[in-house]
Amino acid sequence: MSTMKAAKVTSPGVVEIVQVPIPTTGKGQVRIKVISCGICHSDNITLYGAMGTQLPRIPGHEVLGVVDEIGEGVTGLVKGQEVGVGWFGGNHCGKCTSCLQNEWILCKESLVCGLNYDGGYAEYCVAPADAIVKIPSGMDPIASSPLLCAGVTVYNSFRNQNIKSGSVVGVQGLGGLGHLAIQFVKKMGYQVAALSSGSSKEALARELGASYYFDMSNQSWVAECQKLDVKCILVTAPNGNIIPTMVKSLGINGKLVLLAAVTEPFSVDGIELLGQKKSIIGWASGDSRDTEDTFNFAKHNCVKPMVQPVSLEEAADRLKNISQAKFRYVISFQK
Ligand SMILES: [Zn+2]
Ligand SMILES: [Zn+2]
Repeated sequence: MSTMKAAKVTSPGVVEIVQVPIPTTGKGQVRIKVISCGICHSDNITLYGAMGTQLPRIPGHEVLGVVDEIGEGVTGLVKGQEVGVGWFGGNHCGKCTSCLQNEWILCKESLVCGLNYDGGYAEYCVAPADAIVKIPSGMDPIASSPLLCAGVTVYNSFRNQNIKSGSVVGVQGLGGLGHLAIQFVKKMGYQVAALSSGSSKEALARELGASYYFDMSNQSWVAECQKLDVKCILVTAPNGNIIPTMVKSLGINGKLVLLAAVTEPFSVDGIELLGQKKSIIGWASGDSRDTEDTFNFAKHNCVKPMVQPVSLEEAADRLKNISQAKFRYVISFQK
C-alpha cells in the first residue's frame, strides 16, 4: 500500500510526523496532491482537540494543490487541475434552512477540513467535491494558500456590508487577516484606516495601501478617527476590552464586523448604537464559491498574501508559536 508523510495530532498538544496510507476517494470526493497549506490560528482547535474534534487528526484548512483522483459522480474537474480547500469543508445538505438561504457554511451537515476530516498537513488530502475551490491560472501556489481562509474571510465579509465606495474603512490588527484586509479593501475602492497598537506597523500599513494609521495605545486616536466618519471596521485581532472604544470611533451607520472569535464578554453603550445607528455583527468566512471569487479578485487586483514558507517538520512548532508569525506561515511541499 502506498503511504504519505503527514503531521498528525495524536493527542492534545502532540504532533507527530507519521507515514500513513494515502487516502482514496469515495463517492463525491476529490483527492488533492498537496503543494502548500497555510498555518491558521484556528488549527489550534485541532491541536488541542477543542470543539469536540476527534483525535488523532491531520490539521490544515488552507490546502492548495492539484486534483489527483476523482471520485464517482464528481463532474467539472480534471486531473492535474489546481484546486484548494478552505475552512468550509463541504458536505452541505442543500435542504436545511441555512442551505435554502444559500448559507452553505452555516449548514449543520457542513464539515470543516482538518477538524472533521484529515486536512492539508499531509502530502495528500481527500475532500467532498462541494468544498473544492478552482484556482485561477497564474497564482503562486505557495503564496496564495492563505486566500483559502484568511483571504476569503476578509474579502467576503466586507463585500457583503454594502458600504458606499470611497468611504473610510478601518482595519484593526495587522497580522494574517489584517494585512490582506488592507489590500482587499483598498482595491475594492475605499480609503483604509489601519488600527494597531504602537507605531511599529505604520510603515507596513501604508505600504499595503492604508491612507490613515491610528495607534490605539494613544487615547487621542478615537477623537481623530471620529473625524473621518468611518463606515465600517473589520476587527481581525479581537480583544473584548477594545470593542467599546472601536464602537465609539465609528461614524454614523458604522458597522463593527467581528472576523475572529472574541472569547471574553464585552459591553457596549446601547445609546451609542441607537443614537448613531451603529451595529456590531459577526461574519463566518465564506464557502468554496466565495473563495473562488476571492482568488479571482486577488488575481486581477494584485492582492498578495505575505508568507513565510516552512517544511512539514517545522509545522507543529510554528503552529504552537503562531503569535510570532509576521504574517502567515505556509507549509510548502516544494521546500
Ligand atoms: Zn483559518
Ligand atoms: Zn444544509
